[in-house]
Formats: sequence, C-alpha cells, structure tokens
Amino acid sequence: MSEDLFLKIISREIPADIIYENNDVLAFRDINPQAPLHVLIIPKLRVRTINDMQTQHAELFGKLFLAAREIALEQGVAEDGYRVVMNCNEGGGQTVFHVHLHLLGGRQFGWPPG
Ligand code: AMP
Repeated sequence: MSEDLFLKIISREIPADIIYENNDVLAFRDINPQAPLHVLIIPKLRVRTINDMQTQHAELFGKLFLAAREIALEQGVAEDGYRVVMNCNEGGGQTVFHVHLHLLGGRQFGWPPG
C-alpha cells in the first residue's frame, strides 16, 4: 500500500468521484467541497510539493492547467469564472503531499483569500 493518498486514488485502491483522466493527469471531486464545483487535478507522477518541482516537470504542471481549462468548460463555469489554487506546505494550507490544483467554481470568490 502506498503512503500517498492520491496515489491510492490513481490506482483505484480507494474510491473517488473521478471526472477527468488522461495519460498524465487525473481529476476528481474534493471530498470536502468549498464551492459548488470543487475538483482536485493531480499529476499521476508523484511530486510532493511545488518546492520539489524540477525543470522536467514544467510541461506536466502545464497539463494541470490545461485540464483545469477543459473541466471548467465541461462543468459550465468557464464563462462566469473560477479559481485555481495550489497550496504549498503547511503554511500554505497543504495537507496532502502530492501536488494538486484545486479548481473551484459556482460561486463568487473574494480577494484577498484570507
Ligand atoms: P490541500 O489542503 O491543498 O492539501 O488539499 C487537500 C484536499 O484533499 C482537501 O481539500 C481535502 O478535502 C481533499 N481530500 C482529502 N482526502 C480526499 C479524498 N479521499 N477524496 C477527495 N478529496 C480528498
């Protein structure tokens, strides 16, 4: 068994509401949604935090954003707008140490985020 919760979702060891997948990326609904639409977009390759990102990961991280664009269109929030967030380490609010892009939509977001 992997110690990485999101690797277990990728391998289907634990269930998730998966809404998007390609060779490099998986996306599923957050178990504790903070907006009507709250999707986590993850690389299938494990990178723990943004601090661990290497030059060779640049294209992969770009693919997370391409997936966000596609999912936002599919889920009907692209026109109104949405937010994407990637937390880094405890101080940034990261709790699962496999990088993930939060895609949040379906409500109004303020700034600063608090
Ligand atoms: P972060 O705090 O940025 O690391 O985000 C981790 C996110 O993963 C949180 O929003 C959690 O609600 C979510 N999460 C944790 N476990 C699961 C799970 N089994 N399925 C879906 N989302 C999860």
